[in-house]
Amino acid sequence: MKEKIAMDKPIVEIDGDEMTRIMWAWVKEKLILPYVDLKTEYYDLHIKKRDETNDQITVQAAEAIKKWGVGVKCATITPNAERVKEYNLKKEWPSPNATIRKILDGTIFRAPIILSNIKPAVRFWKKPIVVARHAFGDIYDGVGIRFESPGEAEVVYRSEDGSEVRAKLPKFAGSGVLQAIYNIDRSIESFAKASFRYALENKLDLWFATKDTISKVYDARFKEIFQKIYEEEFKDGFEKAGLTYSYYLIDDALARVVRSEGGFVWACKNFDGDIFSDFVATAYSGTLALMTSELFSPKGYYESEAAHGTVQRHYYRRLKGEKTSTNPTAIIFAWTRGLRRRGQIDGIRELVDFAERLENAVKVTIEKDRIMTQDVARVSEPPINKIVTTEEFIEAVKNNLEKLMER
Ligand code: NAP
Ligand code: MG
Repeated sequence: MKEKIAMDKPIVEIDGDEMTRIMWAWVKEKLILPYVDLKTEYYDLHIKKRDETNDQITVQAAEAIKKWGVGVKCATITPNAERVKEYNLKKEWPSPNATIRKILDGTIFRAPIILSNIKPAVRFWKKPIVVARHAFGDIYDGVGIRFESPGEAEVVYRSEDGSEVRAKLPKFAGSGVLQAIYNIDRSIESFAKASFRYALENKLDLWFATKDTISKVYDARFKEIFQKIYEEEFKDGFEKAGLTYSYYLIDDALARVVRSEGGFVWACKNFDGDIFSDFVATAYSGTLALMTSELFSPKGYYESEAAHGTVQRHYYRRLKGEKTSTNPTAIIFAWTRGLRRRGQIDGIRELVDFAERLENAVKVTIEKDRIMTQDVARVSEPPINKIVTTEEFIEAVKNNLEKLMER
C-alpha cells in the first residue's frame, strides 16, 4: 500500500441529510480516506442539528469556509411545513444553501459532466454549457405579504442619512400577495467579474440575459453593470482570446441556447440560474447527478456541492431495507473539486492529481465498463452492461481508481 497523500490545511466538510448523507459517508470511506490523509473541519448540518442550534451551525460552517477557503457540502433538507412535522422542528429554518451563499457572496458555476455514451437530449449540443448562477439576493432574500382585502402598498427606501424614495404599486382590488426583492451593486459586480473571469480562464464565450424590457430598473441595472465591467476590465482579454460577450433577453437566450452547439458560460440571475442549471443538466445528461456545482466568491472563498437534493424518495425506500441505485457521482465530484482546489491553493500536486484520477475512475466506470446507476442507464447509448446499486457503483469506481493509482 502506498503512502497516503498528506494535506496541509483542512477542508470545511458540511454534512447533510437523507440519502445524500448516506452516500457522503460511503464516498469518504471508500474513495477518499484510503488514499488521502484527510484533514477536515466537520460541520453537521443534519436537519435536527440545525434545529438544536437554532441554525447557528449553518452560519458557523459558512464562517469556517471564510477561514479555510475551501468547503465541500452535502445536500440538505430545506424544511417546509411537512418537514417541520416529520422531524418535529421548532420552525421552518431557511435554506442552508441560501444562508451560506449570502455569507460568502459568490457565483455558482454548474457544468455538465460529459460522457461519450450519454447523448444530450438537444442534438445540436456538442460542447459544455456552464450556467453561472448569481448566488445572492432577489427572491432568495426577499419579503412577502399575503393580504386579505382590497388595499394599497408602496415600497419605501430609507437611506442611512434619512432621505427616502417611494414607489407605489397599483391599487389592489381584492385579496392577494405581494413581494419585495433587492440586490446590491457590489454583489452584481462580483457576479459579473466572476463570470467574465471564469469564461476567460476556461476559454469560453460569455452570455448574459435578463428581462430588462419589462424590469426597467432592476434588470436594467444588471445589464448596465455587466456592460461596464466588460468594457473596463475584460474587453481586451476577450478580444485577444477570440472570445465574445453577448447580452440577450432571457426568452431569446433560452431559444438560442437550445439551438446552439454549446461551448459558453451562460450567466444567469439567481432564479434563472436555479431553473436553467437544472434544465441544462437534465437536457445534457438526463440526470442531475451528472453535474458539478462550484461556488467562487470575489474574496477567493470556494465551495463545491452536489446540485441535486437529498433524494428523499430513495431514502425512504432504503429505510424500508431496500437497496437503491442512487447515483453518487455528483457527491464524488463535490469532493474531487474541493480536494483539487485545496491542492491548488496549498501547492500540493499529489492532491490535484488524485482528484483528477478519481474523476477519471468515475468516467471509465460509466463509459468503458458501462457500469452505472439506473438514472444514467435510462439515457445511455449504447445500452448498458449492468445497472448497479449505489454500493456496487462505488466499488466499481474504487477498482478503477486502484488501477489508475498504480500508474
Ligand atoms: P432531489 O433530491 O434532487 O430528487 C428528485 C428526484 O431526482 C429523485 O427522486 C430522483 O428521481 C432524482 N435524483 C436526484 N438526485 C439523484 C441521484 N443522485 N441519483 C439518482 N436519482 C436522483 O429533489 P427533491 O426530492 O425534490 O428534494 C428532496 C430534498 O432535498 C428537499 O427537502 C429539498 O429541500 C432538498 N434539496 C436540497 C438541495 C441542496 O442541498 N443542494 C437542492 C435541492 C433540494 P427518481 O425518484 O425518479 O429516481
Ligand atoms: Mg434548482
